[in-house]
Amino acid sequence: MAANILKRTFLLVLSCVFVFIFNASTADKSIAVRNAYLSRNQDVTRWVPFQVFPAEMEKKNRKMDFSEKIPENTGALQEFNAPPDKDGKPVPGPEKKEGIPILYYHSVTDNIFGIEELSVAPAEFEKQMNYLKKNNYTVITFNELKNADSMEKPIIITFDDGYEDNFTYAYPILKKFGFKATIFLCVSVIDKSQFLKSGQILQMKDLINIQSHTMTHDYLSKLTEEKIDTELGESKKILEDLTGKEVDVLAYPYGDYDSRVIKIAKKYYKYAVVSGGGFYHRGDSAYEIKRIYVPRSLDLDGFKNKLQQ
Ligand SMILES: [Zn+2]
Repeated sequence: MAANILKRTFLLVLSCVFVFIFNASTADKSIAVRNAYLSRNQDVTRWVPFQVFPAEMEKKNRKMDFSEKIPENTGALQEFNAPPDKDGKPVPGPEKKEGIPILYYHSVTDNIFGIEELSVAPAEFEKQMNYLKKNNYTVITFNELKNADSMEKPIIITFDDGYEDNFTYAYPILKKFGFKATIFLCVSVIDKSQFLKSGQILQMKDLINIQSHTMTHDYLSKLTEEKIDTELGESKKILEDLTGKEVDVLAYPYGDYDSRVIKIAKKYYKYAVVSGGGFYHRGDSAYEIKRIYVPRSLDLDGFKNKLQQ
């Protein structure tokens, strides 16, 4: 009996050590690949990392992120409102299908740095998650979108950039409710001050799906096709090396893209998301998926309103 317990304990310790070593080596490999990339591409530090800039520069940089295009919540219902015929009666349109809300957050903290609106208070975030739970939403990830028709009130939770507070504050709350979420990581800020560390990313594997927010958070429409290819292709490869999972969703930095960007996105990704716009509807372009922005100033009533179609 005692020998059996001892044997089991030994096996458990051995498997923990193995998992630790495996995770550490995966992270190391990814860091090496990323550092090699960064040394080849010196200009990536134009946007990041924040800690290399003095405080004023941090604010300025942070402002750039805040200027991400956040289109008004339009078009969600109009899409299904058929134009009237000659008699003024509505022409039968396609069958109305409910849209899927894809929530769009940045940081979750009360330790405000830079622009306040980008940091949702942890207490508010918890209220929002509680609302989703109480109202029977099914929290899914992008690879479950294809089966969303069979689910009750599907919803996706996303975070952009990869702030460290996603681990410190958001993840424990998500864990409490058993909710999955997607973090769109900008590769060049991983392990930098105020951003997620490789170890934290691996620790959140059970619920957090890592996807790409490019290498350097540049305006993609302003780059050459060669550079767009690097931003999209290299970031996918590095993040896949880090997490050991497929990276097939892209979030355009600043919601900025054009037809060239979409053409290259199709080469590496199944889906790409923009920076706002409202509900995602089945049949929308897979490379212009709209999201619902959640700023700090949004109270619970506002949150509920945003989820009404
Ligand atoms: Zn961003």
